[in-house]
Amino acid sequence: MATSLNTVSRSYGYVRSPDQDAAHVEAHPVIIIGGGLVGLTMAIDLASKGVKAVVLEKSNTLSEGSRSICQAKRTLEIWDRLGVGDIMVERGVEWRTGKVFNQDSLLYSFDLLPEGGHKMPAFVNLQQYRVEEYLLDRLLALGGEVRWRNEVVSIDQYKEGVTVKIDTPDGCYQLGCEWLIACDGARSGARRQLGLAFDGRIFQDKFLITDVKMKGDFPNERWFWFEPKFHSGQTALLHRQADDIWRIDLQLGWEADSEEEKKPENVKRRIRAMLGDDVQFDIEWISLYVFQCRTLKDYVHGRVIFAGDAAHQVSPFGARGGNAGVQDVDNLGWKLKLVLDGVAPKSLLDTYSQERVFAAEENILHSTRATDFITPKSKTSRVLRDQTLSLAAKYPFAQSLVNSGRLSAPAHLAGSELNTHDEDFFDCATQPGSPAQDALLNVNGQEGWLLNELRDEFTAIAYEPNGLNLPPRIDVNGISVAVKTIGRGRTLCEGDGSLRERYDLTPGATYLFRPDQHVAARWRVWPGARLERSVRRAAGRLS
Ligand SMILES: Cc1cc2nc3c(=O)[nH]c(=O)nc-3n(C[C@H](O)[C@H](O)[C@H](O)COP(=O)(O)OP(=O)(O)OC[C@H]3O[C@@H](n4cnc5c(N)ncnc54)[C@H](O)[C@@H]3O)c2cc1C
Repeated sequence: MATSLNTVSRSYGYVRSPDQDAAHVEAHPVIIIGGGLVGLTMAIDLASKGVKAVVLEKSNTLSEGSRSICQAKRTLEIWDRLGVGDIMVERGVEWRTGKVFNQDSLLYSFDLLPEGGHKMPAFVNLQQYRVEEYLLDRLLALGGEVRWRNEVVSIDQYKEGVTVKIDTPDGCYQLGCEWLIACDGARSGARRQLGLAFDGRIFQDKFLITDVKMKGDFPNERWFWFEPKFHSGQTALLHRQADDIWRIDLQLGWEADSEEEKKPENVKRRIRAMLGDDVQFDIEWISLYVFQCRTLKDYVHGRVIFAGDAAHQVSPFGARGGNAGVQDVDNLGWKLKLVLDGVAPKSLLDTYSQERVFAAEENILHSTRATDFITPKSKTSRVLRDQTLSLAAKYPFAQSLVNSGRLSAPAHLAGSELNTHDEDFFDCATQPGSPAQDALLNVNGQEGWLLNELRDEFTAIAYEPNGLNLPPRIDVNGISVAVKTIGRGRTLCEGDGSLRERYDLTPGATYLFRPDQHVAARWRVWPGARLERSVRRAAGRLS
């Protein structure tokens, strides 16, 4: 339910593909359904690995209106690996501080990234249509292809591949592929075609999402109010986006009349109550949402793989939807590449499902808890909520019980079967299954970053390996592993103490990272043949 007053979105023309005139059904290694935030990121990830995927998009525009705005640090790191991180940071609004108000008093504020030594900020606010614009530019620069106004209308799966039927302005045609990735959003037709249950919870509340253009003098922070005077009995959220656009989310309650609430004159009245009569603003976008949390039980069904909102959906409190979708891509891309290259078994893709369903369940838990706190469903839970808010005003311990949305953080895949269990003791939060923590490096005398050294391939990082002459690369059953050493007098040196501290490094310590920058294994001394065993395990060849 949306009203566009000043929609900003690029549109694209339909171009007839030579595949439509082929005598036989043409086949591609990978087809992606959906050129949204997740489908575009997926295509870039595969293109950067040399896999050309065809993106089929039913519309002729990028995301319309106002949806995702908060792009989290891990997402920015993944986009940085894909060559599109810098522009997101440059064009977006960086923030790391959140403030929570009860009525009109500040309850507390929080800092999402109090420490230094990270290339990417805690968050960047950038509207989804801008994000998709930069993703599309990157994909096209890599030689990728999006077929606009190509709607997948049926899916036919067999043992070695999939055939899809596509509707276009010129009529229907068919296309084959080895693997079909369904990134076709929350209302996924692929999910429906395969008859998959997508169960979860609807939250009985309505939220008015409005984007306004104004020159505001609020700082670059997330501001959340419980029961502010300007919006009695409900919650409100304010975020700054790029281009002087501001996002205002107002809780309305389940009984609100959606059509009345969306009328621009009624929205303006509510915004004026919030901003005051003196502030000049123009409304860019109005929409009204009822939120849901749900996930598929499995993301891999034969040769059809689900990612993004097609696989899981959460309420936006915590900004976990799009961010989780980008992490799906991060997890899937390298596994699919190894399977396509024939150096890993197909069963490696099952671990995509296991790891990302685990992450989705974690996201849903956080999102559900936040939504329950924000919209208490019974008198008792409202009393409990209000008591928590009163306590938090007086006692700092109660602040941790206030939940205005726990913001997106990457999943730690500690239980993954791809991890090698520690034989040695390490005293740090990073462990097998964790996403790599960035750290400042000195690369040939210049400022550098650990994550920039972990580039889309298995990488072993050995710290001060004491006179050992390690090869720059080793081959493990067709999988190339980069070996890098960090230490005094070498090309890669520590930039400050962050690397040693975040990985509890002592001379000889070695970490093995997967191509998606998650820790696969670690040892106190150079592991020798154990490294190869761990690479095989992380590539799904369990030994
Ligand atoms: C109000 C709101 C605020 C949000 N805020 C945030 C936030 O701050 N941070 C965050 O991370 N997330 C946020 N989200 C969630 C985020 O918008 C979604 O998670 C994200 O859009 C998912 O991307 P996707 O590519 O999976 O799906 P979509 O963006 O929905 O893209 C799916 C694409 O598939 C295409 N398609 C569908 N069917 C077919 C077909 N049969 N053939 C061809 N193409 C097809 C569609 O046209 C569309 O382009 C928010 C969502 C809402 C509603």
